[in-house]
Amino acid sequence: MMRKGENIIFGCHFPRLYLCPMKLLDGKLVSQAVKDRLKTQTDERMLQGKKVPHLAAILIGNNGASETYVASKVKSCSEIGFKSTLIRLDADVTEQELLFKLNELNEDFDVDGILVQLPLPKGISEQKIIETILPSKDVDGFHPESVGRMVQGLPAFYPATPYGILLLLEHYGIETKGKHAVVIGRSNIVGRPISIMLNKNEYPGNCTVTVCHSHTPNLKEICLQGDIIIAALGRPEFLKADMVKHGAVVVDVGITRVADDSKKSGFAIKGDVDFENVAPLCSYITPVPGGVGPMTIAALMMNTFKACAAKD
Ligand code: NAP
Repeated sequence: MMRKGENIIFGCHFPRLYLCPMKLLDGKLVSQAVKDRLKTQTDERMLQGKKVPHLAAILIGNNGASETYVASKVKSCSEIGFKSTLIRLDADVTEQELLFKLNELNEDFDVDGILVQLPLPKGISEQKIIETILPSKDVDGFHPESVGRMVQGLPAFYPATPYGILLLLEHYGIETKGKHAVVIGRSNIVGRPISIMLNKNEYPGNCTVTVCHSHTPNLKEICLQGDIIIAALGRPEFLKADMVKHGAVVVDVGITRVADDSKKSGFAIKGDVDFENVAPLCSYITPVPGGVGPMTIAALMMNTFKACAAKD
């Protein structure tokens, strides 16, 4: 079986005709480069006696995946030299209590960025929570003001996952101008924003974008036209080899926990792409894990740094 990280040209059972010199879009490596750069900039700020970026994260309840995501964010803060505050709230916290906490953080000058780890418990309005975070501290980029500014091409906090994808494409110098980008998924946190970003008149961008969703009837035909495919639907191994044209760039956003008795944890992480069979067709592809996931955290760190620097 082919291993992730292996150059496909040397190691797979696909017929020679189908081979492409595939390269991995290594999110682990690129996110480390982004974090190293931020560390240097943060050290410089300290030397200049300037404020150090401070991220406040709210974690509600004890959802395993949320615990893991928040722990990685806090760890990244400490690696870079950012301050971080983790606020844990019980699963039965009321909306009012959460809003009160957010207002405290909004008013705290020392806090530059606020994130509330989603999903929220039932009974708490996600929209209300998102809209309560001050746009100047909205490092997740979900506030309607941030989204509106992003759509209009004004300076804004870009949502972390799509921003991370752009950083990855940029790092590898992937040509996007004039390409047909097919985005599968239209959520507010991934599909819709990445479709807007790839359509912008700048690099990475200038794509012609098609956004697909659960009511798209001819998905396979559309995907086959994609020079760049962003799979963000949350359906493990949905994108198959017969949906991808040779030489395509494939970005797999999906993260789904699938039961797996062979793992100590009892689950495996699956992306939205049938990696083993799709990779041999691609010019570039992200692995899962180690692709978009680490880039999301790097992008969040970039946003937190910018939020802090804006106060200078
Ligand atoms: P979501 O809110 O559930 O949205 C999924 C989207 O996919 C929806 O627009 C849905 O269409 C569409 N979809 C579902 N089934 C489909 C199908 N069979 N064909 C075509 N479209 C379909 O999910 P999300 O929050 O965007 O997340 C998507 C995946 O990315 C998840 O696995 C999530 O865990 C992962 N994720 C990863 C990161 C990261 O850092 N790597 C960050 C965020 C999310 P409708 O709109 O018609 O329902």
